[in-house]
Amino acid sequence: MQHLDPDRLVLLALSEQTAESDETGHLQRCEPCRDELDTLRTVAGLGAESQGLSNLPAPPEHLWQRIEAGIAAPVTPVADVTPRPERNSRPRRPWLAPVLAAAAAAVLAVVGTVTVDRYLRRPPAETVAARATLSPLPTVPAAAGGTVQVLSDGQLRIDIRNLPLTTGFHEVWLIDPDDPAKMVAIGNLPEKPDAVLPVPVGVDMNRYRLVDVSDEPHDGDATHSGRSLLRGTLTY
Ligand SMILES: [Zn+2]
Repeated sequence: MQHLDPDRLVLLALSEQTAESDETGHLQRCEPCRDELDTLRTVAGLGAESQGLSNLPAPPEHLWQRIEAGIAAPVTPVADVTPRPERNSRPRRPWLAPVLAAAAAAVLAVVGTVTVDRYLRRPPAETVAARATLSPLPTVPAAAGGTVQVLSDGQLRIDIRNLPLTTGFHEVWLIDPDDPAKMVAIGNLPEKPDAVLPVPVGVDMNRYRLVDVSDEPHDGDATHSGRSLLRGTLTY
């Protein structure tokens, strides 16, 4: 049985490359190759957990050449004339040490690259599942308004401008437009223009699609004050 190429094992252990189907088949059948892969992954894991690696300079070119030379060294099963005492001992792997060295070095390089990459790259754009434009009710200054986005992770991002001052607080609600007595309190707006509020688990956003921002007095009454300031309907 032809073992998997050591280079290939390093790649599988260190990168996000996935094994080809024939490689997967071989790994399932071949314990030595599985062991090597596990060892390499352990090394990779140790490297990834280390702190402060991002400050390391890139390895000099000559080091890389030696690492590559080490990996590329022919796997010559030296003719072993002396009978091995343990017949079931694992075959010698002359390339394991250089491969591990290469793995460790590659981990340093990969970790450094990933760290820089994470630092430079902007966070992935959140998926917006639904949005609404909030408009002022007739009693509210026309300059007031806002926008609401339902993010794919179930949170509500709300962006408010020019709300009238209140001696109480502003609260966000989701209302069933078909039965406006049914509503869910989402949370209080902080004293800043934008907020992200988690929607309680189990709220059917298709049904509770009317977003309402109310002016609530500090009266200890958890129900809606009846003083709505902004409203808008979520569209998907
Ligand atoms: Zn194998």
